[in-house]
Amino acid sequence: MFSKILIANRGEIALRVIRACRELGVRCVCVFSEADRGAPYLDLADEAICIGPAPSAKSYLDISRIMSAAEISDVDAIHPGYGFLSENAHFAEVCRSSGIAFIGPSPESIRLLGNKTSAREVAGRVGVPMLPGVKENVDSEEQAIEIANNIGYPVIIKAAAGGGGRGMRVAHNEIALVQGFLQAKSEAAIAFKDDSVYVEKYLERPRHVEIQMIVDSHGNFVYCGERDCSLQRRHQKLVEEAPSPIMTPELRRKMGEAALTLAKAANYVTAGTCEFLVDSKNNFYFMEVNTRIQVEHPVSELVTRTDLIRAQILAAAGEKLPFSQSDVEVRGHAIECRINAEDPDNDFRPCPGKITRVFIPGGPGVRWDSHIEAGYTIPSNYDSMVGKLLVFAPDRMQAITRMKRALQEMRIEGIKTTVPLHLRIMSDKRFIDGTVHTSYIEKELLAK
Ligand code: ADP
Repeated sequence: MFSKILIANRGEIALRVIRACRELGVRCVCVFSEADRGAPYLDLADEAICIGPAPSAKSYLDISRIMSAAEISDVDAIHPGYGFLSENAHFAEVCRSSGIAFIGPSPESIRLLGNKTSAREVAGRVGVPMLPGVKENVDSEEQAIEIANNIGYPVIIKAAAGGGGRGMRVAHNEIALVQGFLQAKSEAAIAFKDDSVYVEKYLERPRHVEIQMIVDSHGNFVYCGERDCSLQRRHQKLVEEAPSPIMTPELRRKMGEAALTLAKAANYVTAGTCEFLVDSKNNFYFMEVNTRIQVEHPVSELVTRTDLIRAQILAAAGEKLPFSQSDVEVRGHAIECRINAEDPDNDFRPCPGKITRVFIPGGPGVRWDSHIEAGYTIPSNYDSMVGKLLVFAPDRMQAITRMKRALQEMRIEGIKTTVPLHLRIMSDKRFIDGTVHTSYIEKELLAK
């Protein structure tokens, strides 16, 4: 096992990794930017090192500063969390050449599966179902038009290096396609420094269902059930739950096996997620692989009684996973609400600022993954997530009732949050019936 891990991230996920390190008896080092100086979770790490100013390009995304911190603190592994450098193959390579374990997949696996066009190429090769579209980057408007004419409108133009819902445009006709093609390209160039885009069929009103995978270096490939992340705004997840309301044991097995087929084809080790879209007839289509731990991993932990961060660390250290596929059983129901510092009444404008008062819900089946406390100021430099409120209950209806109760208890004062929107969702008939789709929030709930 490692003796010391550096956490190349911030906020709630840094704290989540600190907790796993504590339980494993591994020391941990947190790096932080000037905007995060004095953040409460830093006290819980064994060491904390400032790596630069607030802008992430000069701190959390600066590989040389992070590697200097790793050298000074003499760590033997780096956990990248999610976002920032977590899916950066070059960073994984720098770690490898410095003799430091990267707690994530190999640079080769990241290159193969982290890029959407190359992942589509692998998926096509091993027979994982996909939406009609292309497996290579599309260079010109003319080419995009030809592909769209072949597969039929609507289509979606997506950045190959995309993430976080950016670099994506839906087109219902040729004019929108040409416009969307140029917009997606320029957005991708800015966000990902890579303007490659591709085109696939756009599915109307699908569900987003993803498979959590965890793999060790001894050939133990495991999927820990699915998460349903259909409640989104601007292609960003708001609420996640497990199991999916549409799931059957047969569909879960098929989707789980499809995900593992891809992982095997890429020699994948550690945690990863295979995202699918599911249509109204329960056909599923590969969308992308996230080659890292995801924000919503705790819902899978709750229904499968696993600790995915611990499992990730064990796998990176070359140890065997403490479970295999036959041990993983999905039981009960878990829901996660992402509480963001945003104003739902004001077009979800980010509301960073000082939190004056906090009351965190508790009681049976409630989990709160967050780094905030009263007096803490949410910096404006990073994403607006304040915390993740999770509940676990024997069945879905009890989980919804429990989430409503927990949201009603919650007090976060001084900033606006998405708590009122979540309360509305938990009382929404369509959500309760389990019949929502990925555009439901924007096209129906918020349009009411
Ligand atoms: P990102 O990497 O930016 O998160 P994804 O490929 O995961 O992008 O897609 C994010 C969301 O965009 C999906 O959950 C879904 O709501 C929507 N989406 C993506 N591709 C399609 C498609 N082909 N048809 C319909 N919706 C799609």
